[in-house]
Amino acid sequence: MHRVKAKTILSGGRSMNIYRGCLHGCIYCDSRSLCYGFTHDFEDIEVKENAPELLEAALKSKRKRCVIGTGAMSDPYLPIESELQLTRRCLELIDRYAFGAAVLTKSTLVLRDAELLQSIHEKARATLQMTLTTFDEQLCSLVEPGVSLSYERFQALCRFRELGVPTVVWLTPLLPFLNDTEENLLGILSYCAEAGVKGIVTFGFGLTLREGDREYYYAALDRHFPGLKQRYIREYGNAYGLPSPNEARLREIFEEFCGKYGIMHIPEEIFADMEVIPEGHEQLSLFP
Ligand code: SF4
Repeated sequence: MHRVKAKTILSGGRSMNIYRGCLHGCIYCDSRSLCYGFTHDFEDIEVKENAPELLEAALKSKRKRCVIGTGAMSDPYLPIESELQLTRRCLELIDRYAFGAAVLTKSTLVLRDAELLQSIHEKARATLQMTLTTFDEQLCSLVEPGVSLSYERFQALCRFRELGVPTVVWLTPLLPFLNDTEENLLGILSYCAEAGVKGIVTFGFGLTLREGDREYYYAALDRHFPGLKQRYIREYGNAYGLPSPNEARLREIFEEFCGKYGIMHIPEEIFADMEVIPEGHEQLSLFP
């Protein structure tokens, strides 16, 4: 871990990554791709120690409230967050200034901040987004070795439902020949229905790989699934997009399930919905 003083914290005016790099070790992690220009090891976490100060200045300068997103490039609930509490301090500011929050994580450490997110939701808007890819816990521990079990993430989703905070599941990626099965999809979907999630995000039913990410993924396949890398190379070559051979059937099941349970499933609609601060959630005080 190394600490830096960042110059800015919000990209695109509403997205923040307090940490850079990640220790969760997902074998398919896109964030480790070379195109993101890391100048340090991916596991050597960069900590933007002045994130709360930068965020407070940014919130004060905004003329209109919006929803601040976090978790796009690095999990905001890395193990060091327990000690550093930077994500928590940023959420406290979002709450104090009555902005909204959309948090994406794979860690049940987010439960620590559940009541805080509930408060944000009561004043503006909050959404918990939880990635769930693999129903079989043994397989999950191989493809996402550093994160909470899928069942524990499901329980976290249920807790947020109890608190009245909307939840969204990112059901992505589905790894060809590993978790791209009907059984896996139905398992995750059953969690989603039971937890009453508002939306499920998928970007097709497959995986993307690019330089940096691909090498890491293939090394993990060699370690855990001997022979599978060669199959990938035969089927996909060097392609960026690796759709599951079962894509059509998985899509059919997914759309039918979401329709039956009234779950949003078009990504653009889900993202647009998360941005909405409902009428009547009046700004209490921007500058307390
Ligand atoms: S949690 Fe996200 S950023 Fe971290 S290793 Fe997994 S995919 Fe990558």
